[in-house]
Formats: sequence, C-alpha cells, structure tokens
Amino acid sequence: MQYHFDGFVPGDPLRRPVALRSPGDNVDVLIVGAGPAGLTLAAQLSRFADLRVRLVERKDGPLQLGQADGIACRSMEMFEAFGFAGQAAREAYHVNEVSFWKPDPEKPGRIVRASRVQDVEDGLSEFPHVILSQARVHDFYLDLMRHAPSPVEPEYETQFLGFERVGSGVRAQIERGGVMEVVETRFLVGCDGARSQVRSAMGHRLSGETANQAWGVMDVLAVTDFPDVRLKSAIQSANDGSALIIPREGGYLFRIYIELEKLGESARVSSLDLNAQKLVAAAQRIFAPYTLDVKEVVWWSAYEIGQRLTNAFDDATPARDPRAFIAGDACHTHSPKAGQGMNVSMGDAFNLGWKLAAVLRGQAKPDLLRSYSRERHAVAQALIDFDREWAAMFSAKPAAAGSPEGVDPQEFQRYFVKHLRYTAGVETHYGPSAICGAPTHQALASGFRVGYRFHSAPVVRLADAMPMHLGHCVEADGRWRLFLFADRDGARLAALCDFLDGLLLKRHTRAGADIDSVIDVRAVFPQAHREVALEATPTLLRPRKGRLGLVDYEKMFCPDFRAGDIFGARGIDRDGAIIVVRPDQYVAHVLPLDGFDELAAFFGGFLEASPGIEPGCKDLQSSA
Ligand code: FAD
Repeated sequence: MQYHFDGFVPGDPLRRPVALRSPGDNVDVLIVGAGPAGLTLAAQLSRFADLRVRLVERKDGPLQLGQADGIACRSMEMFEAFGFAGQAAREAYHVNEVSFWKPDPEKPGRIVRASRVQDVEDGLSEFPHVILSQARVHDFYLDLMRHAPSPVEPEYETQFLGFERVGSGVRAQIERGGVMEVVETRFLVGCDGARSQVRSAMGHRLSGETANQAWGVMDVLAVTDFPDVRLKSAIQSANDGSALIIPREGGYLFRIYIELEKLGESARVSSLDLNAQKLVAAAQRIFAPYTLDVKEVVWWSAYEIGQRLTNAFDDATPARDPRAFIAGDACHTHSPKAGQGMNVSMGDAFNLGWKLAAVLRGQAKPDLLRSYSRERHAVAQALIDFDREWAAMFSAKPAAAGSPEGVDPQEFQRYFVKHLRYTAGVETHYGPSAICGAPTHQALASGFRVGYRFHSAPVVRLADAMPMHLGHCVEADGRWRLFLFADRDGARLAALCDFLDGLLLKRHTRAGADIDSVIDVRAVFPQAHREVALEATPTLLRPRKGRLGLVDYEKMFCPDFRAGDIFGARGIDRDGAIIVVRPDQYVAHVLPLDGFDELAAFFGGFLEASPGIEPGCKDLQSSA
C-alpha cells in the first residue's frame, strides 16, 4: 500500500485519525439499510472526502449472528479492492472440495457417499471460495468506514418512512424514537431488504413464483460420525429430504440447511410451528445411519423458497434521470443454497457506488446512472433463472428412490459442477454500452474478456522487484484503470503515453488534480524486470503527485516468469494492447496501443470534460 504521499504521517496507515463530522439533513446520498448491500455502498462512498453520506438502519446495532455465509471468489476480489480480503481469508473456512451423498442402493434408509469434486477450478481466481459469517463481513465494512476519508457510522434504530422527488434531489422522511426528520438528499438508495419500503415508495414490487417449499437452517456445534462434516456436502436421502452441510469458520461450527415439507398453496412457513429441536430431529433422520449429537444451536431460522424480481432498480423514466435506487434483496430474492444472496447484493452496490460518486463529483454525465438498473437487472434475472432450476433439483427426490420426477444423483452433481464458475461470480457479464465497449479487438487480449471481471495474474513490480497480482492495483477508489501491455521495443507504448499525457488525461482531469485521479495508467512490459531501464520509461508512468510532487513508482510491471508469463496466460498480442478497466474491476474495453481515437471516443461518451482545460484538449477527437 502507498502512504506518506502528501507528507509524513506517523502511526497505523490503515487507521489515520479522521474528524467525525455530522452530515446534517442535507446530504449527497441517503442509504437505507445496513446489510451487505448498504454497507458495501457506504464503504465505497466513504472513500471520497467531498461526499456527505448518511446510512440509516432500523435495527438497534450491528448484526451478530446468522444469515448468509458464502463468499464467492468474485466477492473476495472485491474485498481485496476494499483492503480486507486477506483478513477474511485468514478467518474463513475455505471451500476446496464438495462431497455428494445419495441413498444407499444396498441398504434402504441409509445414505452413502456418491463422489467428491473440486470446488474452485485451478486458476479461476487468486482468491478462494470461503465461508464466513455475514456479521464479520459487516464488521470489516464498519471498520473501514470508520477510518475512511469521509467516515460513515450507521444511525441505528432509525427507520425510513417515505420520500418524494423535489427540485434536483429527493426529500426523505425518517423517524428515530418517535421523532420525525426530513432529509434532503441528491440520491436515495434503498438497501432495505426483501420487504423494502423504498421499493414500495418507488411504486415497484417483487414479482415471481410463490414459494411453497419450506427450508430450515441452523448453525450448530455438534458431535457426529458423519465423515464429511468438514466438507461442504450435499445430501439426498431416499425419503427424508435433502440437506446441505456448510462447514464454518473456526474449525468446529457448521451449518445445516434442511429440507422441510411442502407448504400448501397459501400457507406460510410460520404455520409449521418450528423450533430448533424439530430441525435437529429432521437433520438426524436425513443423516442416518450417522449420528448427530447437537451440543449447541447457535442460530436457526426457517424460510420459504421463492424466486422474485422487481421490474427496475431505479425510479427513472424515459423523461427523467434516476434519483432513487434499490439494491440487494430489495430487488431480488431467491433460495440461499447456491450462496448467492449476499454476493449478488454486494455486487449491486459495488456497481452503483462508483457511478454515484462520479456523477456527484462532476466527473461523469448523469446519464451514467441509468446503466445501473440495466446492468444489474440482467444479472438478477440470470440469478433467478439459475436458482429456480437449482432449487427444484435440490428439492426433487433422488431418481433411484422411484420418484417419477426424481433427479439422478449424478445429474445433480453434473449440474452443480457445470455451474461452479457461475456460483463463483466470475461469469457476470455486462453487455456493450457507453461504459462497456464492443469486443471488436478481443483477439488482442483473449484472457481479458470485455464485459467480464478483470482476471488478475501475477507480475513483478518494476521499481522494487515486488511479486504481486496485477489486479490488486484496482482499489475501490472510483478510478478507471488503463493497463497498457507494451510492444517489444516500446515505441507504440511511448506514443500512447504522449497522447494520454498531452491530451486525454488532461481533458478529463480537473486542473491542479493529480494526473491519475480520474484515469490511472499502468504499464506491463514484456521483458523480465531486470531488463527494463526504469529511467528510460515514459514519464507518465512515473508521475509526480501530491502536495510535495513526489514520484509514484508503482505504475510499471513485468511478467513474473516464475509464476508464468502474463502475456501468454492472458493471450496478449505481442504488439501490445490497452485494457480499460472500470472502477468496479470489470473490463470495459480492449484496444490496440494506437487506438487513440477509439479510446478518446469511449471516455468522451460518459466522462465530463474538465472545466479549465487547455483549449487544445477540448476537441480531442479531431486533434487525436
Ligand atoms: P438485508 O441483509 O436484508 O439488509 C437490509 C437491512 O435494511 C436490514 O438490516 C434491515 O433492518 C434494514 N431495513 C429494512 N427496512 C428498513 C427501513 N424502513 N428503515 C431502516 N432500515 C431498514 N442467505 C444465505 O445465503 N443463507 C442463509 O442462511 C440466509 N439466511 C437468512 C436469514 C434471514 C433471517 C435473512 C433476513 C436473510 C437470510 N439470507 C440468507 C439472505 C441474505 O442475508 C441476504 O441475501 C443478504 O443479507 C442481502 O443483503 P441486503 O443488504 O440486500 O439486505
């Protein structure tokens, strides 16, 4: 990490003293709900010292127990951008293998292991698929927000009541301890869960299939002779339903999802009169012949499965730009067994956060905000479709038990394996738009697929010979990245750097701001790091920054040949390529190193030209 950039500051660089200020009743963003979506959004916005953000939550304090626990590789990549992936990985259970159990064909009433498979395919991500309490994820965000440039503390026991659009923003009503307050805000974001009041106030509703399959879930400390209790295990019994075991962090705790009975047409899960003992008894029946001696039920819950989605994630119409948004469970609900709820909810907020910041800070055109609903609605629709199929398979009887609609245990396993990339979160894809180019030049970098997340690879940093992951340069700081993969003799790279330095970056960067404050340029040379003369590299790649004009030495990289050549691993053309990466780590474009016009047109499509730029920079396309 980089610090001392604006002068020497002693002490813990992650916990700089920051002055807490009251944002008051006139803010830039009001967030409703401090779940994973609301906290991801607040953490993102807290990175900008010039934004005023409030976060209201009706609960009386931070979450302590239960709810979601699966953290996909993709979310770990996002956590890296926020700076806490390492801590999450240290604390968490790592899902390396999954085991499948089916009815024993020889001995009725017993289960037997069908197979074991690898969970995350080799090279899919530098991060593991982990299991960690949602409450700990909340803690990481809360800690980050507390020490951020614009600190945000959730206001607990505070309830959102309603809103109306006024002037250039929104007027929201909130209530705390019987006292009403009106908050004027530029934007309102409802991260307020499945029963979202923000969604209702926007006039949207969740629609989809009614839920008639009841499931129970409990986190337990227990003694069992079931041998795969420390592996994620899917169990299909002949006549007692299905269960899913999720080993948890800390080595002892585990979670059991248990299939309960089908509900009648209008029945709710509350009508089953459940308690922890009934869930334990149901689990014991599925586990037979293995024993399950539960010592402590740490948390339990019961729920109905349904796949529901709202029609839009904002209040835009063709005639008016959006000012109110919803994210997370407020937009989509589905079964928890594929572990997607928390991940997709955080993904919604990560997509929205940088866009709000860019518009509020005058860097991007307001139109950018319309891309949020378009992009994330498509992601949610794909999730709903997947979950419908997966949940039905999970609840179907194994074919071997003679059920006409039964699912062959092997087919069940094949489906699971086939969708592992999807459930890891790396198949999320954004189609062509103003912020995602067409993949016309994809052949120049076949391993950085346009519209997909930037798939990191190992490199060595040129200036200090530091082995690291290239993707870890992409912090959650709202900046765009240009990764310039250099040609062999560097001539095309040098010409591009001249163009960027002289025109493009200046066009979109406020006068006086650091040259990388909107678009951060990094380069990867094809040679080994000892063969590149740092002093001969373009000065744009060694920019002078901050109050003291210090040199940033962390912009240049070379392949880490011990770990593999990034040019080969990601299919980079030997004449070089530009990879444009969005602030949320998605590849927005692949272009040739001399694609000046296309690059300028791309950024000109959604970024504002900065006030006070030199006349030559204004009409960039004609001068490029
Ligand atoms: P939420 O986490 O629901 O957060 C919404 C927040 O908004 C809440 O804190 C709520 O108090 C607050 N809020 C709501 N209305 C208002 C208002 N008017 N004013 C102020 N604040 C408001 N997923 C799994 O994968 N596995 C599980 O086992 C699992 N179990 C779950 C059990 C429960 C009881 C719940 C509620 C969810 C469970 N989930 C589970 C789902 C998972 O937790 C969600 O998908 C995820 O939390 C979604 O995040 P979110 O931020 O969108 O919404």
